[in-house]
Amino acid sequence: MHISPTVLQQLQTLLGYENVHTDVPSLLAYAYDCSLSRGRPDVILHLPDTACIAPVLRLLHEHEIPFVPRAAATNHAGSCAALKGGAVLNLTRLNHILRINTQERHAVVEPGVITGQLQQQLRPLGFFYAPDPASENISTLGGNFSQNASGARCMKYGGTLDHVLQANWVFPNGEETIFTRPATGPDWIGLLAGSEGTLGIATKLTVKILPLVQHIRTFLVTFPSLEDCIQTVTDLTAEGILLRTAEAMDQLTAQTVENFMPSGYPTQAAAVLLAELDGSLKEVQKDEKTFQRICQANHALQIQNSHTEEQRQRLWSGRRNGYSAMAHLAPNVMVGDGTVPRSQLPTALKKVRQILATDSLKAGLLFHAGDGNFHPQIVFDERQVLDAKRVSEAVRQILQVCIDCGGTVSGEHGVGVEKRNLMAHQYDASTLHLFSAVKKAIDPKGLANPLKIIPLQYAEKARAAEPLPPAVAKLAETILHYQEQKTPCMVCGLNSRLKTNTQPLLSSRDLNTICDIDLTNYTATAEAGVPIATLCKALAKKNVFCSLPQQDKGSLGGAFASACYPSFYKHVIGIEALMPDGSYIRYGGKLTKNAAGYNLVRLLAGSQGTLGLVTRLTFKIYAQKPAECEKKPFVLQPFDTLWQRIKNTLDPEHLFNTQRPLC
Ligand SMILES: Cc1cc2nc3c(=O)[nH]c(=O)nc-3n(C[C@H](O)[C@H](O)[C@H](O)COP(=O)(O)OP(=O)(O)OC[C@H]3O[C@@H](n4cnc5c(N)ncnc54)[C@H](O)[C@@H]3O)c2cc1C
Repeated sequence: MHISPTVLQQLQTLLGYENVHTDVPSLLAYAYDCSLSRGRPDVILHLPDTACIAPVLRLLHEHEIPFVPRAAATNHAGSCAALKGGAVLNLTRLNHILRINTQERHAVVEPGVITGQLQQQLRPLGFFYAPDPASENISTLGGNFSQNASGARCMKYGGTLDHVLQANWVFPNGEETIFTRPATGPDWIGLLAGSEGTLGIATKLTVKILPLVQHIRTFLVTFPSLEDCIQTVTDLTAEGILLRTAEAMDQLTAQTVENFMPSGYPTQAAAVLLAELDGSLKEVQKDEKTFQRICQANHALQIQNSHTEEQRQRLWSGRRNGYSAMAHLAPNVMVGDGTVPRSQLPTALKKVRQILATDSLKAGLLFHAGDGNFHPQIVFDERQVLDAKRVSEAVRQILQVCIDCGGTVSGEHGVGVEKRNLMAHQYDASTLHLFSAVKKAIDPKGLANPLKIIPLQYAEKARAAEPLPPAVAKLAETILHYQEQKTPCMVCGLNSRLKTNTQPLLSSRDLNTICDIDLTNYTATAEAGVPIATLCKALAKKNVFCSLPQQDKGSLGGAFASACYPSFYKHVIGIEALMPDGSYIRYGGKLTKNAAGYNLVRLLAGSQGTLGLVTRLTFKIYAQKPAECEKKPFVLQPFDTLWQRIKNTLDPEHLFNTQRPLC
């Protein structure tokens, strides 16, 4: 697109002449990231400080110039390609760690801080930042937040989204705001995490830091098959052992790593597991015995225990360099990122190997065994056009396998443009429409990282919607009736918190089935009207637990939507809901990780019935009683600006729960 000399001059005034580049080498240098996608921008803006972001976005907005925030560009999804041209905003100079507060356990950082640099600063203070993408020494905290990156420790500690306490944010029109946690309405930080620069820019982040764990045991275990390796992790979970890490790799990866950077990996076994236990000495010693027993029961060939920090770091250097090692085999490495329910991993991996063999593609397999998240790393030469096409097609087929196994096209790398079309295979039209509505509410001009995440013309391509359960279909009809009559209604669960007399009520009371307690994946699925007490009893009968207190008088959906248990959100991994227009959305499932699309769990969490009626939730359960989530009193929250905007888009007639104080 053409950017006028006047606008370029205004940008130079804002940023300094030396920070505005339109020369061809600069444009080419910023046209790509770690994927195969390319998109040439028209101008590169090197941001010298965070204060200039809002005025720059206001200027771009005024002139309708699209922009792409760009940090270290290590993403594999094509998220940084400037598909409509416009401006690329280079954030890497915003790299100051502003504060580390060990007493209050947080650090305040600019978005361009390299994640590993924060770790280095924290270590001597006796602290660490839990998310640990393998790219931590090259990627940034802002990029991690925007892709909702996660890493080896995700199984136990969670991904980036749950480690951000506050986000300073600039919307695409240049408006600034600060989001904090715990949230008093929807979990906005959770919604913005993983939004891939399409909803605005994080200008400052406050992240949680944790005291270094006193005792860590690192094991390297070899197995005769990947299936044995995966079963070991499943069996450990069933014994109540939450591993700190459960990183697995196939033989080709182990061999390639050993050739590239000898790390002590045996090269003869079909599968290698790098697993860690952490906690107090007593806990670790106790779990170690179980660990050894379960590995042996699953045919472990060799169990090595690292005794020194040096040995431990050596083992980890191999895992962290898995990608670099593969990159030595050919000019290009295509890294896939599919996630399936953990129980589906063996089936999915079998099919993945068939696809790779059929196409005679050389690929190593790396996976986060506890999360059901795997990364085929296919090596090839992009200059051989046919090879590149075969690889892209194989990746497409692999991700289709994930979808067919109830999984997602992205566990942690995001969608960008590379997986945009596949979103229509994963989601039905109503769910894609909700993603699109969120984007429109926040970025009506479509300037922020355009053409990413949401497939084009999705209405024609989207997967067919599954039929609604009868009780849900009845509620959908009622909503359509209210729509026609323009009758506002009160959305509620058992009305134990809202305690409203206002009629009519739209209640989830009749949605009272516990659908599934899954002791392989450690998830439960229940309809929203199930009383929490009933749910807890049903779980206890199977010797499993959730993090809600049995004494609560309300429903599951009410606990989730009321904002009374904000930390319950992080246990919820799947949601279904009826929207104010009568449409039905389905997002997530038995998936520990899902980085495909905006996080609809966090949009509807704490939304107090204003954005939709939650009908069903899937959440994590545990073999040992977890700490119960802290309870907050129920308060009808006033709309903040973002809530109001999204409300106006999703419910323009203001039919759902509009009676509330104004901000
Ligand atoms: C060797 C290697 C290993 C990897 N391992 C992992 C892994 O273990 N786990 C994992 O999750 N990923 C991994 N990745 C992928 C990648 O590192 C992550 O996606 C990372 O979070 C990207 O960070 P970045 O700073 O490079 O962001 P970029 O690639 O520059 O940007 C990513 C996206 O975020 C947006 N963005 C960047 N900064 C901001 C901001 N401040 N505000 C708003 N939007 C912004 C961009 O527009 C873009 O859409 C790996 C990549 C490589 C090359």
